[in-house]
Amino acid sequence: MINVGRMKSIRYISTRGQQTPLSFKDAVMTGLARDGGLLIPERIPDVTGHLAEWAHLDYAELAFEIVSRFVDDLPAERLRELIDDAYATFAHSAVTPVRAVGPVHILELFHGPTLAFKDIALQWLGRLFEEILEERDGRLNILAATSGDTGSAAIAGVRGQERVQIFVMHPRGRVSALQERQMTSVLDANVHNLAVEGSFDDCQQLMKTLFNDLAFKDAHSLGSVNSVNWARVLSQIVYYFYAAFRVMDSTGAARVQFTVPTGNFGDILAGWYAKQMGLPIERLILATNENDILARFFCTGVYAKGQVVSTINPSMDIQVASNFERWLYYKVGQEPEAIAELMARFAEQGHIELPCEQQGQVDRDIVAGTSDTQRTLATIKRYYEQFDYLLDPHTAAGVFVAEQHNELDEPMICLATAHPAKFPEAIEEATGKDLARHPLFEALAQAPTRCDVIANNLDELRAYLAARTA
Ligand SMILES: *Cc1c(COP(=O)(O)O)cnc(C)c1O
Repeated sequence: MINVGRMKSIRYISTRGQQTPLSFKDAVMTGLARDGGLLIPERIPDVTGHLAEWAHLDYAELAFEIVSRFVDDLPAERLRELIDDAYATFAHSAVTPVRAVGPVHILELFHGPTLAFKDIALQWLGRLFEEILEERDGRLNILAATSGDTGSAAIAGVRGQERVQIFVMHPRGRVSALQERQMTSVLDANVHNLAVEGSFDDCQQLMKTLFNDLAFKDAHSLGSVNSVNWARVLSQIVYYFYAAFRVMDSTGAARVQFTVPTGNFGDILAGWYAKQMGLPIERLILATNENDILARFFCTGVYAKGQVVSTINPSMDIQVASNFERWLYYKVGQEPEAIAELMARFAEQGHIELPCEQQGQVDRDIVAGTSDTQRTLATIKRYYEQFDYLLDPHTAAGVFVAEQHNELDEPMICLATAHPAKFPEAIEEATGKDLARHPLFEALAQAPTRCDVIANNLDELRAYLAARTA
């Protein structure tokens, strides 16, 4: 068997240092490390010498080159097939096309089956699960909590599979009608939608409690698809390379900047890895909405939890960003003891502090800014009227922050994380017109749905799962 690893083997270690190093496949199946830390590759490959030869590869070819540097336990041909299959589901031949729009370049990440950028990671993660379970003759029961986008992308990634069942909890009546239909209209036997009588926090709490019950977790082969899974971050590194190559080619620039609308810090972390690998990224700009814990941190060094407020860009309504720990690990000099200490302090006191390298900046590579509802709506309106381009509210928050930081010469690439048709109310409020349409959603209105309602009660959830995972 020819293994992909052209270099030495690669192992995954925990940011908290208490987990035996894992192979790639084991890291994918494990998700969160057993010591509570996050899994990271033991080294980051330097691909500077390949940039010229990769600049004109198509998306799947490029994905293979990048991903294969982090995977040494899948045959090259098989890895290539999984990648090809995952991205063949995208509606655009470029997979993630880039368009020049006004002063910025928009990287469209929303051409996957559920029109959200999470498809890029979850289409491939679903196929990876299937591959690994097949080989190990295993079964996996995915438990997820969603406030909207993650649920439907996760369902789309594993629907119809024989070895995987997926249980997605959403707060009953509290996700948008469209998002609810997107999930509950999937009728495959392995898909279970659960409307929980409670809030999104209740759903998350139920999930966390069950995952911490290691006996139940092991007995029922519970797994997770949230963005702490390394395979999700890995697959997102690819489009930073893809977009940078396209924009450097069309503008003649030698370096680029990226702006990323941020929630759990997974997306921007992928860009940070791309930069460490040698992609000429001048800097990354992190955009938040009113839930601005990360923007405050990158401007002041203080990481302090606030109250979550609900906004028009709900996937950014997060106070504690689960992927932040990965970045912090490198920031504190790759010292697991320091991370364990910082995370314990944060859990206890709700805040930690790092020194600023220079005035108003904690890190040379990442700067940050915040948008709010009014600025985001105004940005949607302006881009529609001036450039005839519709931004979804997440992308628009990013574009607003990008414009505030567009003082350097390097071209600015803004990540577009959802199709505007996913958020018709915000588009109508911004433009005064009912513009946000997509044929996929028109069809949904008529589709039959299936969903079970359960109480916000751990025993009921346990019983529900136990009855279906025997
Ligand atoms: C998930 C999501 C985000 C946030 O991405 P993170 O990786 O959590 O930072 C932004 N926009 C949309 C539309 C999303 O679905």
